[in-house]
Amino acid sequence: MSGFVFSEKPIEIVEGDGPYLLDKNGTDYLDMGASYACVPLGHGHEAVTEVASEQLDSLTYVQASYPVEIRTQLYELLAETAPKGIDNTWLCNSGTEANEAALKFARAATGRSKIIATTRSFHGRTMGALATTWKDKYKKPYEPLIGDVEFVPYNEPDAMAEAVDEETAAVIVEPVQGEGGINPATDEFLETTREETAAVDAALIFDEVQTGMGRTGSLWAAESADAVPDMITSAKGLGNGLPIGATLCQDWIAENYGSHASTFSGGPVISAAAHATVSTILEEEIPAHAAEMGEYLTDELESRLESSVREVRSEGLMVGIEVKRGANRILRDLALNHQVLALPAGRTVVRLLPPLTIEHEHADEVVDALVEVL
Ligand SMILES: *Cc1c(COP(=O)(O)O)cnc(C)c1O
Repeated sequence: MSGFVFSEKPIEIVEGDGPYLLDKNGTDYLDMGASYACVPLGHGHEAVTEVASEQLDSLTYVQASYPVEIRTQLYELLAETAPKGIDNTWLCNSGTEANEAALKFARAATGRSKIIATTRSFHGRTMGALATTWKDKYKKPYEPLIGDVEFVPYNEPDAMAEAVDEETAAVIVEPVQGEGGINPATDEFLETTREETAAVDAALIFDEVQTGMGRTGSLWAAESADAVPDMITSAKGLGNGLPIGATLCQDWIAENYGSHASTFSGGPVISAAAHATVSTILEEEIPAHAAEMGEYLTDELESRLESSVREVRSEGLMVGIEVKRGANRILRDLALNHQVLALPAGRTVVRLLPPLTIEHEHADEVVDALVEVL
């Protein structure tokens, strides 16, 4: 056996087209997980593949210390779209790196070390981001991780108010927890967290690696929260399948970020792909479509699955179905017998993160399959 790192699924994918993936036997699968939310525009979207291939031809890479027009345009586009005051961008290659940078920036800008995260959080698997991730399963074999991290129960504003103090460098929080089971934050929780961090000049970081790029019904989930963070991290959908991460931040962070860097930061090809992804999402009003389809899908799931599930939780096209038995067996049945690919979020949640371009017929297809499986 070679390539021991991942446990692979018994389906070999050779092509992608919109919300569908084709395996080597010619079977089509509906990709209701968008391969971990990485293709908000669907597989192989022309607007992205064309500019990326052109860029690959003209200039694949030049060291990040030389300005490249398309990277500058990406910085400008992200600043325009992010909530007011978040005007600076640092680019990297993944979600965990984006969070790693955010944690380092917060420590440098505040001169403090304490980081507050939440129960059931997921922020990535490098040593710093991992230390702010909740589950022991991911952490135990690698300890000790970075110190001075405290966990507060998600959606408990009083506990947050108690934890944030003058030693706090940052609070990191997902506006909707993904890996933790699709748990939307309450307005009160985010507002209190904002007030408390602002009162002691600590940084508030929204981890939008999964929620960003229109998934929750706005380009950034932060837009619909009554709380503007100091930093937003992004990755997953930002390059529509090509690897990129971004740490967006306010001036006071950017002015005192220390000396962080990365060789591949904002290479021309990935900058072109991300610029095309964000532009297309905005031009085609994809966030509004995601909101509408999310509502339709959630209503259908609730009315047709009824008592065969415990609960359906959603925000836009980030949907969690709390089931009454192990999610993995259900996902296997969905994939092998109904050609629908979905994701788990913990042991008892079936997670749907489809391409944001899906139409009613695709929503119906997954609901029909779930009705049969359950
Ligand atoms: C996936 C994810 C990460 C980690 O991203 P990678 O690109 O896998 O490193 C961090 N935060 C959230 C909320 C995620 O969903």
